[in-house]
Amino acid sequence: MIEIADLHKSFGTLQVLKGIDLKLEDGKVLVIIGPSGSGKTTLLRCFNLLEIPDQGTLALGDTVIHFNGLVTIPRKALQAVRQHTGMVFQSYNLFPHMTAIGNIMEGQVTVQKRSRDEARKRGLQLLAKVGLADKADSYPHQLSGGQQQRVAIARAMAVEPEVLLFDEPTSALDPELVGEVLKVIRQLAAEGMTMIIVTHEMKFAADVADWVILMDEGVILVQGTPQEVLIETKNPRALQFLRQTE
Ligand code: ADP
Repeated sequence: MIEIADLHKSFGTLQVLKGIDLKLEDGKVLVIIGPSGSGKTTLLRCFNLLEIPDQGTLALGDTVIHFNGLVTIPRKALQAVRQHTGMVFQSYNLFPHMTAIGNIMEGQVTVQKRSRDEARKRGLQLLAKVGLADKADSYPHQLSGGQQQRVAIARAMAVEPEVLLFDEPTSALDPELVGEVLKVIRQLAAEGMTMIIVTHEMKFAADVADWVILMDEGVILVQGTPQEVLIETKNPRALQFLRQTE
């Protein structure tokens, strides 16, 4: 289970997260929606400590970290959190000088200390899983955006994280390439992968989420099942946001 409590984060004088509490059980999918600038990406990045919260608690598996304004997190805790999370970025962030399989092998060899043979074998299985078995030796610039994002998902999976984090995984894609990426994420959800996803794709959110949080100005405005948040909410600000996305 993943849990955060009373999480705060500021950039200078700008308070971006103003006390966030949430829990996610293993095998569940949490979707984060909300207007631009509401703190969605910052919250997501706190889960793998790409941003260090100023205050609050993060619990991921056996690792519990209390933040108290200190910038340095104990190395062991940082490693544990990084090893248990996989991140998929909006702009894929593949290493441009490495092939698809090279990208997927990298973390397995350097972080997990797997042999190159083992890393390659697992990488090929993952490429097949995301429908790219024939692209192992292609470089990122030889792949479409949708294919690059699927390689990025395979890479994030390769280190066997307990939770996969997605930061607007389809928003850099041409519309015709969105479906192939969402299909892979839906498949992972069906297999019971624990995921936290920031997205603007409301229909996808409704389909894939077990739990939805709608953020606004650094707080959770409403949270609940997709039905409760996307259809039944009576919160005026939430309704205003949802109408804009229709
Ligand atoms: P969202 O994902 O909902 O669009 P973000 O979490 O990206 O929101 O950003 C929330 C606010 O924090 C915005 O005002 C943004 O400009 C600001 N912000 C995000 N990252 C940084 C940073 N590294 N330094 C300063 N301000 C930042």
